[in-house]
Amino acid sequence: MARRSQPDPTPEKLRSELVALLKDFAKELHKPELRTKVKALIPAFHKLRDLGSSLIPEREASNARDRIIAYLLRYPTRVIDGDELMVVSGIGEWARRTRELRVQFGWWIYTGVTFRQMAEDAPDGPLPKQIKEEIGADPLEIKPDQYVLLRSEQDRDAAYHWNLINSLRKHKGSVKQKILAYLRENVGKQIPGEELRYLAGDASEWARRARELRTEEGWPVVTKNSGRPDLPVGVYFLEADRQSEPHDRKIPDDVRVEVLTRDGFKCVECGWSRKDVTPGDPRQFLELHHVQAHADKGANTADNLITLCNVHHDKVHKDMSRKRK
Ligand SMILES: [Zn+2]
Ligand SMILES: [Zn+2]
Repeated sequence: MARRSQPDPTPEKLRSELVALLKDFAKELHKPELRTKVKALIPAFHKLRDLGSSLIPEREASNARDRIIAYLLRYPTRVIDGDELMVVSGIGEWARRTRELRVQFGWWIYTGVTFRQMAEDAPDGPLPKQIKEEIGADPLEIKPDQYVLLRSEQDRDAAYHWNLINSLRKHKGSVKQKILAYLRENVGKQIPGEELRYLAGDASEWARRARELRTEEGWPVVTKNSGRPDLPVGVYFLEADRQSEPHDRKIPDDVRVEVLTRDGFKCVECGWSRKDVTPGDPRQFLELHHVQAHADKGANTADNLITLCNVHHDKVHKDMSRKRK
Protein backbone atom coordinates (compact mmCIF):
# COMPACT_ATOMS: atom_id res chain seq x y z
CA MET A 1 0.00 0.00 0.00
CA ALA A 2 1.25 3.41 -0.86
CA ARG A 3 1.93 5.75 2.04
CA ARG A 4 -0.50 8.53 2.48
CA SER A 5 0.78 11.80 1.14
CA GLN A 6 -0.37 13.87 4.13
CA PRO A 7 -0.81 12.87 7.75
CA ASP A 8 -4.44 11.95 8.39
CA PRO A 9 -6.11 13.92 5.55
CA THR A 10 -9.85 14.35 5.82
CA PRO A 11 -12.14 12.27 3.62
CA GLU A 12 -13.35 15.48 1.93
CA LYS A 13 -9.80 16.49 0.99
CA LEU A 14 -9.08 13.02 -0.40
CA ARG A 15 -12.34 13.02 -2.32
CA SER A 16 -11.57 16.30 -4.08
CA GLU A 17 -8.03 15.15 -4.86
CA LEU A 18 -9.44 11.97 -6.36
CA VAL A 19 -11.84 13.94 -8.53
CA ALA A 20 -8.91 16.08 -9.75
CA LEU A 21 -6.89 12.96 -10.60
CA LEU A 22 -9.76 11.49 -12.56
CA LYS A 23 -10.20 14.76 -14.42
CA ASP A 24 -6.52 14.66 -15.43
CA PHE A 25 -6.99 11.09 -16.54
CA ALA A 26 -9.52 12.18 -19.19
CA LYS A 27 -6.60 13.45 -21.33
CA GLU A 28 -4.75 10.11 -21.03
CA LEU A 29 -7.82 8.05 -21.86
CA HIS A 30 -7.78 9.17 -25.49
CA LYS A 31 -4.12 8.39 -26.05
CA PRO A 32 -3.47 5.18 -27.96
CA GLU A 33 -0.76 3.67 -25.73
CA LEU A 34 -2.21 1.17 -23.21
CA ARG A 35 0.67 1.28 -20.79
CA THR A 36 0.52 5.05 -20.51
CA LYS A 37 -3.14 4.85 -19.58
CA VAL A 38 -2.58 2.17 -16.95
CA LYS A 39 0.27 4.08 -15.34
CA ALA A 40 -1.72 7.30 -15.35
CA LEU A 41 -4.51 5.63 -13.40
CA ILE A 42 -2.28 4.44 -10.53
CA PRO A 43 -2.45 7.64 -8.43
CA ALA A 44 -6.25 7.53 -8.56
CA PHE A 45 -6.20 3.92 -7.35
CA HIS A 46 -4.07 4.82 -4.35
CA LYS A 47 -6.17 7.87 -3.63
CA LEU A 48 -9.36 5.80 -3.65
CA ARG A 49 -7.86 3.38 -1.14
CA ASP A 50 -6.79 6.28 1.06
CA LEU A 51 -10.31 7.65 0.88
CA GLY A 52 -11.80 4.30 1.97
CA SER A 53 -9.44 3.91 4.89
CA SER A 54 -9.92 7.55 5.95
CA LEU A 55 -13.60 6.89 6.70
CA ILE A 56 -12.55 5.47 10.08
CA PRO A 57 -10.50 8.17 11.86
CA GLU A 58 -6.85 7.51 12.67
CA ARG A 59 -7.44 8.02 16.40
CA GLU A 60 -9.94 5.15 16.37
CA ALA A 61 -7.84 2.71 14.36
CA SER A 62 -4.35 3.26 13.04
CA ASN A 63 -3.85 0.21 10.82
CA ALA A 64 -5.87 -1.93 8.42
CA ARG A 65 -6.57 -4.73 10.90
CA ASP A 66 -7.79 -2.28 13.54
CA ARG A 67 -10.02 -0.59 11.00
CA ILE A 68 -11.61 -3.92 10.05
CA ILE A 69 -12.50 -4.78 13.64
CA ALA A 70 -13.57 -1.18 14.36
CA TYR A 71 -15.98 -1.43 11.44
CA LEU A 72 -17.36 -4.83 12.51
CA LEU A 73 -17.80 -3.56 16.08
CA ARG A 74 -20.09 -0.83 14.75
CA TYR A 75 -22.41 -3.49 13.31
CA PRO A 76 -22.38 -6.58 15.55
CA THR A 77 -24.51 -9.59 14.48
CA ARG A 78 -25.13 -8.03 11.04
CA VAL A 79 -24.06 -9.63 7.79
CA ILE A 80 -21.18 -7.60 6.34
CA ASP A 81 -19.90 -8.01 2.78
CA GLY A 82 -16.20 -8.64 2.31
CA ASP A 83 -16.19 -5.68 -0.09
CA GLU A 84 -17.07 -3.36 2.80
CA LEU A 85 -14.01 -4.60 4.70
CA MET A 86 -11.95 -4.06 1.55
CA VAL A 87 -13.02 -0.40 1.45
CA VAL A 88 -12.42 0.45 5.12
CA SER A 89 -9.19 -1.53 5.37
CA GLY A 90 -7.68 0.19 2.33
CA ILE A 91 -5.50 -2.84 1.59
CA GLY A 92 -5.58 -5.74 -0.85
CA GLU A 93 -4.96 -8.31 1.87
CA TRP A 94 -8.09 -7.51 3.88
CA ALA A 95 -9.28 -11.15 3.85
CA ARG A 96 -6.08 -12.37 5.48
CA ARG A 97 -6.20 -9.63 8.13
CA THR A 98 -9.82 -10.60 8.87
CA ARG A 99 -8.82 -14.24 9.28
CA GLU A 100 -6.09 -13.20 11.73
CA LEU A 101 -8.60 -11.26 13.79
CA ARG A 102 -10.74 -14.40 13.88
CA VAL A 103 -8.34 -17.23 14.57
CA GLN A 104 -5.37 -15.46 16.13
CA PHE A 105 -6.89 -12.57 18.06
CA GLY A 106 -10.02 -14.37 19.22
CA TRP A 107 -12.70 -12.11 17.78
CA TRP A 108 -15.99 -13.95 17.22
CA ILE A 109 -16.05 -13.24 13.49
CA TYR A 110 -18.02 -15.88 11.61
CA THR A 111 -17.75 -16.41 7.88
CA GLY A 112 -20.64 -17.29 5.65
CA VAL A 113 -19.00 -20.68 5.08
CA THR A 114 -19.24 -21.62 8.75
CA PHE A 115 -22.89 -20.64 9.10
CA ARG A 116 -23.74 -22.51 5.96
CA GLN A 117 -21.91 -25.66 7.02
CA MET A 118 -23.61 -25.65 10.43
CA ALA A 119 -27.01 -25.18 8.81
CA GLU A 120 -26.39 -27.81 6.14
CA ASP A 121 -25.71 -30.38 8.85
CA ALA A 122 -29.17 -29.86 10.32
CA PRO A 123 -31.38 -28.43 7.55
CA ASP A 124 -34.62 -29.78 9.08
CA GLY A 125 -33.87 -28.80 12.66
CA PRO A 126 -34.29 -25.42 14.34
CA LEU A 127 -30.73 -24.25 13.64
CA PRO A 128 -31.23 -22.47 10.29
CA LYS A 129 -34.12 -20.50 11.83
CA GLN A 130 -32.09 -19.67 14.96
CA ILE A 131 -29.23 -18.39 12.82
CA LYS A 132 -31.66 -16.32 10.75
CA GLU A 133 -33.09 -14.73 13.89
CA GLU A 134 -29.60 -13.95 15.12
CA ILE A 135 -28.12 -12.41 11.97
CA GLY A 136 -31.15 -11.53 9.85
CA ALA A 137 -30.07 -13.68 6.91
CA ASP A 138 -30.81 -17.20 5.73
CA PRO A 139 -27.64 -19.22 6.48
CA LEU A 140 -28.25 -21.39 3.41
CA GLU A 141 -28.07 -18.30 1.19
CA ILE A 142 -25.17 -16.53 2.86
CA LYS A 143 -22.08 -16.05 0.69
CA PRO A 144 -18.59 -17.31 1.58
CA ASP A 145 -17.18 -13.76 1.57
CA GLN A 146 -19.72 -12.40 4.02
CA TYR A 147 -18.86 -11.94 7.68
CA VAL A 148 -20.67 -11.56 11.00
CA LEU A 149 -19.23 -10.37 14.30
CA LEU A 150 -21.26 -12.52 16.67
CA ARG A 151 -20.24 -10.84 19.91
CA SER A 152 -18.45 -7.63 20.74
CA GLU A 153 -15.84 -9.05 23.06
CA GLN A 154 -12.53 -10.77 22.42
CA ASP A 155 -11.73 -14.28 23.64
CA ARG A 156 -9.30 -13.75 26.52
CA ASP A 157 -7.71 -17.16 25.93
CA ALA A 158 -7.13 -16.39 22.24
CA ALA A 159 -3.37 -16.94 22.31
CA TYR A 160 -3.75 -20.24 24.17
CA HIS A 161 -6.46 -21.43 21.77
CA TRP A 162 -4.42 -20.40 18.74
CA ASN A 163 -1.40 -22.42 19.90
CA LEU A 164 -3.47 -25.43 20.89
CA ILE A 165 -5.41 -25.50 17.61
CA ASN A 166 -2.25 -25.24 15.55
CA SER A 167 -0.56 -28.08 17.40
CA LEU A 168 -3.66 -30.27 17.05
CA ARG A 169 -3.91 -29.47 13.34
CA LYS A 170 -0.47 -30.98 12.82
CA HIS A 171 -1.42 -34.24 14.52
CA LYS A 172 -2.44 -37.28 12.56
CA GLY A 173 -5.93 -38.51 13.28
CA SER A 174 -9.45 -37.89 12.18
CA VAL A 175 -11.30 -34.60 12.26
CA LYS A 176 -13.52 -36.06 14.98
CA GLN A 177 -10.55 -36.97 17.18
CA LYS A 178 -9.11 -33.48 16.82
CA ILE A 179 -12.40 -31.81 17.68
CA LEU A 180 -12.81 -34.04 20.73
CA ALA A 181 -9.26 -33.39 21.91
CA TYR A 182 -9.79 -29.64 21.58
CA LEU A 183 -13.12 -29.66 23.42
CA ARG A 184 -11.66 -31.81 26.22
CA GLU A 185 -9.00 -29.14 26.75
CA ASN A 186 -11.83 -26.60 27.03
CA VAL A 187 -14.45 -28.25 29.24
CA GLY A 188 -17.12 -25.77 30.30
CA LYS A 189 -15.98 -23.08 27.82
CA GLN A 190 -17.92 -21.67 24.91
CA ILE A 191 -16.10 -22.59 21.72
CA PRO A 192 -17.04 -20.92 18.42
CA GLY A 193 -17.82 -23.23 15.51
CA GLU A 194 -15.40 -21.06 13.55
CA GLU A 195 -12.53 -22.49 15.62
CA LEU A 196 -13.65 -26.08 15.04
CA ARG A 197 -13.74 -25.44 11.32
CA TYR A 198 -10.21 -24.07 11.36
CA LEU A 199 -9.09 -27.01 13.52
CA ALA A 200 -10.61 -29.42 10.99
CA GLY A 201 -8.37 -27.91 8.30
CA ASP A 202 -11.51 -26.46 6.70
CA ALA A 203 -12.90 -29.96 6.05
CA SER A 204 -16.58 -29.39 5.38
CA GLU A 205 -17.83 -32.23 7.61
CA TRP A 206 -16.63 -30.70 10.90
CA ALA A 207 -20.19 -29.79 12.00
CA ARG A 208 -21.42 -33.32 11.47
CA ARG A 209 -18.42 -34.78 13.32
CA ALA A 210 -19.07 -32.49 16.29
CA ARG A 211 -22.68 -33.63 16.34
CA GLU A 212 -21.69 -37.31 16.17
CA LEU A 213 -19.56 -36.91 19.29
CA ARG A 214 -22.84 -36.21 21.07
CA THR A 215 -25.32 -38.46 19.27
CA GLU A 216 -23.10 -41.47 18.57
CA GLU A 217 -20.45 -41.41 21.26
CA GLY A 218 -22.26 -39.86 24.21
CA TRP A 219 -19.96 -36.89 24.84
CA PRO A 220 -21.93 -34.00 26.35
CA VAL A 221 -21.13 -31.64 23.46
CA VAL A 222 -24.10 -29.31 23.52
CA THR A 223 -25.33 -26.47 21.31
CA LYS A 224 -28.27 -24.11 21.32
CA ASN A 225 -30.33 -26.42 19.15
CA SER A 226 -29.47 -29.66 20.98
CA GLY A 227 -30.52 -29.11 24.54
CA ARG A 228 -28.95 -25.84 25.71
CA PRO A 229 -31.20 -23.01 24.49
CA ASP A 230 -29.33 -20.63 26.79
CA LEU A 231 -26.17 -20.87 24.63
CA PRO A 232 -25.60 -18.42 21.75
CA VAL A 233 -26.07 -19.78 18.26
CA GLY A 234 -22.90 -21.22 16.74
CA VAL A 235 -21.31 -22.15 20.06
CA TYR A 236 -20.10 -25.63 21.01
CA PHE A 237 -19.79 -26.52 24.69
CA LEU A 238 -18.45 -29.69 26.35
CA GLU A 239 -20.32 -29.84 29.65
CA ALA A 240 -18.11 -32.46 31.31
CA ASP A 241 -15.11 -34.59 30.47
CA ARG A 242 -16.96 -37.87 30.38
CA GLN A 243 -18.95 -40.06 28.03
CA SER A 244 -22.43 -41.24 28.90
CA GLU A 245 -22.96 -44.95 29.56
CA PRO A 246 -23.02 -46.93 26.32
CA HIS A 247 -26.69 -47.71 26.80
CA ASP A 248 -27.58 -44.01 26.86
CA ARG A 249 -25.92 -43.17 23.54
CA LYS A 250 -27.32 -42.91 20.01
CA ILE A 251 -30.15 -40.59 20.95
CA PRO A 252 -31.11 -38.40 17.98
CA ASP A 253 -31.07 -34.65 18.62
CA ASP A 254 -34.78 -34.12 17.99
CA VAL A 255 -35.65 -36.78 20.58
CA ARG A 256 -33.16 -35.25 23.04
CA VAL A 257 -34.76 -31.82 22.72
CA GLU A 258 -38.27 -33.31 23.00
CA VAL A 259 -37.41 -35.07 26.30
CA LEU A 260 -35.63 -32.06 27.82
CA THR A 261 -38.51 -29.77 26.87
CA ARG A 262 -41.11 -32.20 28.27
CA ASP A 263 -39.21 -32.42 31.59
CA GLY A 264 -38.78 -28.64 31.72
CA PHE A 265 -34.96 -28.91 31.50
CA LYS A 266 -34.98 -30.31 35.06
CA CYS A 267 -33.86 -33.52 36.74
CA VAL A 268 -37.00 -35.56 37.32
CA GLU A 269 -35.56 -36.79 40.65
CA CYS A 270 -34.49 -33.54 42.32
CA GLY A 271 -35.69 -30.71 40.09
CA TRP A 272 -32.14 -29.40 39.48
CA SER A 273 -31.69 -27.26 36.35
CA ARG A 274 -28.82 -25.33 34.71
CA LYS A 275 -29.97 -22.18 36.49
CA ASP A 276 -29.15 -23.79 39.84
CA VAL A 277 -25.49 -24.46 39.01
CA THR A 278 -23.30 -23.46 41.97
CA PRO A 279 -19.63 -24.11 42.69
CA GLY A 280 -19.26 -27.06 45.04
CA ASP A 281 -22.55 -28.64 43.99
CA PRO A 282 -21.69 -31.87 42.18
CA ARG A 283 -24.76 -31.41 39.99
CA GLN A 284 -23.34 -29.73 36.89
CA PHE A 285 -25.34 -30.86 33.87
CA LEU A 286 -28.34 -32.86 32.65
CA GLU A 287 -28.27 -36.23 30.92
CA LEU A 288 -30.87 -38.46 29.37
CA HIS A 289 -31.47 -41.93 30.74
CA HIS A 290 -33.29 -44.88 29.17
CA VAL A 291 -36.01 -46.20 31.47
CA GLN A 292 -35.76 -49.58 29.79
CA ALA A 293 -32.09 -50.01 28.95
CA HIS A 294 -31.28 -49.57 25.27
CA ALA A 295 -29.24 -52.80 25.44
CA ASP A 296 -32.41 -54.59 26.62
CA LYS A 297 -34.24 -53.38 23.51
CA GLY A 298 -35.42 -50.15 25.15
CA ALA A 299 -36.41 -47.72 22.43
CA ASN A 300 -34.68 -44.43 21.67
CA THR A 301 -38.00 -42.65 21.89
CA ALA A 302 -39.17 -39.88 24.19
CA ASP A 303 -41.50 -42.09 26.23
CA ASN A 304 -38.58 -44.36 27.18
CA LEU A 305 -36.27 -41.48 28.19
CA ILE A 306 -36.09 -39.24 31.25
CA THR A 307 -33.97 -36.22 32.20
CA LEU A 308 -31.60 -36.67 35.15
CA CYS A 309 -28.86 -34.54 36.65
CA ASN A 310 -25.42 -36.14 36.55
CA VAL A 311 -25.62 -37.08 40.25
CA HIS A 312 -28.94 -38.89 39.98
CA HIS A 313 -27.92 -40.44 36.70
CA ASP A 314 -24.83 -41.92 38.35
CA LYS A 315 -26.98 -43.14 41.23
CA VAL A 316 -29.48 -44.86 38.91
CA HIS A 317 -26.68 -46.66 37.10
CA LYS A 318 -25.05 -47.72 40.36
CA ASP A 319 -28.35 -49.18 41.53
CA MET A 320 -28.79 -50.93 38.20
CA SER A 321 -25.39 -52.64 38.34
CA ARG A 322 -25.98 -53.61 41.99
CA LYS A 323 -29.21 -55.33 40.96
CA ARG A 324 -27.41 -57.22 38.21
CA LYS A 325 -24.85 -58.70 40.62
ZN1 LIG B 1 -31.04 -34.86 40.28
ZN1 LIG C 1 -28.68 -43.92 31.95
